[in-house]
Amino acid sequence: MMKLFDAHCHLQDPRILSKTPQLIKTAQEAGVVFFAVNGVSEQDWPLVREMSETHPSVIPCFGLHPWNWDLSTCRFVAERSPNWFKTLKQYFDATPSAAVGEIGVDKGSQGRKIDFSEQVEVLRQQLELAKELNKPASVHCVRAFGDLLQLMKSIGPFPAGVILHSYLGSAEMVPEFSKLGAYFSFSGFLMSLKANKAKKMLKMVSSDRILLETDAPDALPKSNIDSLFFIDGDTSLPEDLHGQTTPPSTSGSSLDASVLPKETLNHPANICSVLDYVASMLGISKEELAELSYQNAARLFSYEGLGPPMLICEKVFLSTKGRLN
Ligand SMILES: [Zn+2]
Repeated sequence: MMKLFDAHCHLQDPRILSKTPQLIKTAQEAGVVFFAVNGVSEQDWPLVREMSETHPSVIPCFGLHPWNWDLSTCRFVAERSPNWFKTLKQYFDATPSAAVGEIGVDKGSQGRKIDFSEQVEVLRQQLELAKELNKPASVHCVRAFGDLLQLMKSIGPFPAGVILHSYLGSAEMVPEFSKLGAYFSFSGFLMSLKANKAKKMLKMVSSDRILLETDAPDALPKSNIDSLFFIDGDTSLPEDLHGQTTPPSTSGSSLDASVLPKETLNHPANICSVLDYVASMLGISKEELAELSYQNAARLFSYEGLGPPMLICEKVFLSTKGRLN
């Protein structure tokens, strides 16, 4: 079976937290070996840590997301405390297996409500910390790629890697970010780009920098409904899809998921749909993309302190084999 690595998701999200053990099991049956679970605020860091202790397949990531520290605009939780950075550092001291994320900058409809210079300052502190600790960092960027590039240039390069998660930036910026140590991670959001634009951008990403992710419970791929996994009890689903926690074996519908309500939850097993789509855009086989994206993620997450024995094996394997391509 193909091995997959979900390089960015939020299995601690309150919308799915009670179902996480089952979601992990189903995704594992679909081939997912590791999940990089990204905390977004001081409130959910303890949940992420706990999840990584219960599930060896979970790699914990701690960071302050740009939406999650302004009380007036927050999506999930309250504003950051004056001690947030000290607390974050304590999390890394106590959890050497953790990476940095989710952090970032956002000038989209959500991010615009939050002072941008403050966003940049909070991101700067966390990128500097990632560099100092020699850990990869998972970065969210919406309509602010120029600002992000400038900031990364002023701090970088990042030998431990920076994951540009759900990357939707331009093809032209790919080489500039790559020089600084960036990896490009693709989710169901890629399906919102025009196919020719997505292809042009994907072709610029070197094969040793491609990652796949779900960003679950967000970013439901706009794939055929019959090929998707849904989350049991998701009230935004139409009645007839309520039982579809695994894709049915016979195809009955020709509709794609863009007909579903925007808030329909994404299941981590839907990384298989992301794999299909990105492979088709690149014109390579699913098996080839699964293999190279898995090896890229395994290499990226094989930093000092990370425990899972399989990752250590991969690291030894890669160091004897050398880099892909
Ligand atoms: Zn995310």
